Order: sequence, then C-alpha cells, then structure tokens
Amino acid sequence: MIHPHTELRYVSSTVGHGVFATAFIPKGTFLWVLDPFDRILTVDEVRDLPPVLKQAVERWAYVDPTGHFVFCWDHGRFMNHSCRPTSRGIGDAFEIAVRDVLPGEELTCEYGILNIGKTFDCACGQLGCRGRVGPGDVERLFPSWDAEAEDAFRHAASVPQPLLPFVKAGPRDHAVLDALARGATSVTLPSHREYRREGAHDAGEGEGLWAIAGVHENPQRRARTTRADRPSATRRRASSRRVGAAR
Ligand SMILES: [Zn+2]
Repeated sequence: MIHPHTELRYVSSTVGHGVFATAFIPKGTFLWVLDPFDRILTVDEVRDLPPVLKQAVERWAYVDPTGHFVFCWDHGRFMNHSCRPTSRGIGDAFEIAVRDVLPGEELTCEYGILNIGKTFDCACGQLGCRGRVGPGDVERLFPSWDAEAEDAFRHAASVPQPLLPFVKAGPRDHAVLDALARGATSVTLPSHREYRREGAHDAGEGEGLWAIAGVHENPQRRARTTRADRPSATRRRASSRRVGAAR
C-alpha cells in the first residue's frame, strides 16, 4: 500500500506515469508497505494465468527473495526508479522515506534490489545517476543503501505512520515493528543484500523475470512452454515496489 498522501500522475510518453506526493511527508515515514491485498504469486501460478494477466505481472510485479512475484494492487506499482530515491527498502515489507518529501515531489525507489531480470539504461537525471541499473548493483552498493535506511529509521518512531496498521509483516520484519513499538530509534535492520534472490543475474533475451523467479520451475512444464508463451524480456517498468519506468 502506497502512502495516502500520494497520487498517480502522467509524466511523459517515455516514462509513463509516476507517484507524486500531495502533501509534505517527513523523513522516516513508511512510504509503502506490503499489505494483505498485494498479490503474491508462485511461478506456476503466473505461468497458468491468461496471457493478458501474465503480461501484467511481467510488467508490474517484482520478484522477492524467495522467487515469488509480488503484484501491488494500488498505484504503488507505478513508482519509478531513481539512483537517488526518496525511499529505501527495509526487510520484506517496508519502504522508508530517507529524506523529507515535498508536495509535488515524485516518490521513487531503487530497482537494484528488486531482482530485476535485466540491466537497463537509467535516465533518472539525478546527480550520481549510475547510467545502467542491473541485478549486480546491490553487491557493490548495499553498504550505503543500508546506511541510508538506518539513518531514516531513527526518525520512524517520531513521525506519523499511517500505513503501519496495514502492513503484512514477514519474519524479518518483526524486529522492525518491535523497535517501533518500543520507540527505539536504532535497530539492526535487515540488509538490502539479503533481499537479493539467490542466483539473480542478467537474463538472456526472452527470459526476463523468469530467469530469476523460475529457477525452480518444473522441468516438464518448461518443456511444454514455448518461447512465445513467455513474457518479453525487457521490463522498462519494474514494479511497485516497483517496476516503474527507468529514466
Ligand atoms: Zn539513474
């Protein structure tokens, strides 16, 4: 679920849509949480979907560390990537604002932790834009991403958290919730590195997300699946958490 003080806006024909703040949102606010409406699908479930729905998953879902596809039900799935995003991920269920977000500012996140299936050209326009964003970026950059998240979390207990009642927390998220309940400003957070799907790599042409999420796919099913059945490789829009357009 995306923060209530946001709306979907059209950006351009290249980028498509993005998520923008409609009010001031302070640093330390959870901008997005995994909630019970977000759909989590296994590889087999996705494979059995009608083509139109399968393509929607390919375009909008992201892959979690267990290889499942996560399809966000609200406009959170339109969050775009930035090399200097407004939020960083914490554990499995949170995106936290790493700076104050001003009204009218676009909410962005880091696709480099979302087990993207393919390196893409980035034109986010931010100072320090990496130019290319790929599955291996997290191995190089996780220390600074973790530091940003920990710094932001120091503010989490002292700012409004309207999304907290809706979070669907996983095992790695309970320490975060416990710390918030205690009003703690410091806690050892799960590292971005732990969100990486084992075996994540740049997919070959035609593989896309399946190269990552389909690591354990049934060989018999794979034999029956023609290349034409598979979603296109290029996912310019990553998901809500974000498969949004790279720019
Ligand atoms: Zn960039």
